[in-house]
Amino acid sequence: MTVRIQFLGSGNAFSDGGRANAAIHVTGPGVSLLLDCGGSALPAIKKHGDPSAIDAIAVSHLHGDHFGGIPFFVLEQHFAGRTRPLVVGGPPSLERRLRAAEQALYPDFFGPTKLGFPLSTVMLGAAAVPLGGATVSALPVRHVALSEPHGLRVTVAGKVVAYSGDARWSAELADVARDADLFICDASSFQREDPAHISYRELMRHRAEIGAKRIVLTHLGAETIAHLAELELEHVADGTTIEV
Ligand SMILES: [Zn+2]
Repeated sequence: MTVRIQFLGSGNAFSDGGRANAAIHVTGPGVSLLLDCGGSALPAIKKHGDPSAIDAIAVSHLHGDHFGGIPFFVLEQHFAGRTRPLVVGGPPSLERRLRAAEQALYPDFFGPTKLGFPLSTVMLGAAAVPLGGATVSALPVRHVALSEPHGLRVTVAGKVVAYSGDARWSAELADVARDADLFICDASSFQREDPAHISYRELMRHRAEIGAKRIVLTHLGAETIAHLAELELEHVADGTTIEV
């Protein structure tokens, strides 16, 4: 069985290179799951596909470029006439932070309006749970603690797609990637040290500790984009599709 991964948004928080914020669509038999839904995800989703085809969203951590697009997604789907449920999975504070974002952006809509479809949240953790037709677990990684950072492991049709979210190097990141068919990794910088993100150079130094069969780089910042020709690992752009 083939699992298809389309990178709708491959950029960082600053949309360097004009790239959209994080949004990765995983599809397979009976599966339609979005990994992260950053602030600019909705236009990216509409550019490459149909929001109504997404059954669930798995959020790696609570930074706006990873979950800030959800209120817009929900608003759009309500007015588009969606009736199918939408499930959003993520860190412990997901529900509270999502409600706060909704109230900050559209208090006239969220609350007064009865949504046309069931919207629910589920907490992701080390124990895999069903989400969007896949099973998903979330393992802690090192990033900004207040964002409750996790890497995700998604199992579809026997294939494991691992995703770093935003993370600096740690043994925990190797646990996220372990034995995955595909490891999607943060590459915010090329060689610049960053307390919150792994650089490409640092990833290469630890490559032997990453047990994934295939590694692909996303969340590309300006420094990484300036060195694309030097990358020995695959990288993606908005719209890139990978099959495993
Ligand atoms: Zn982040």
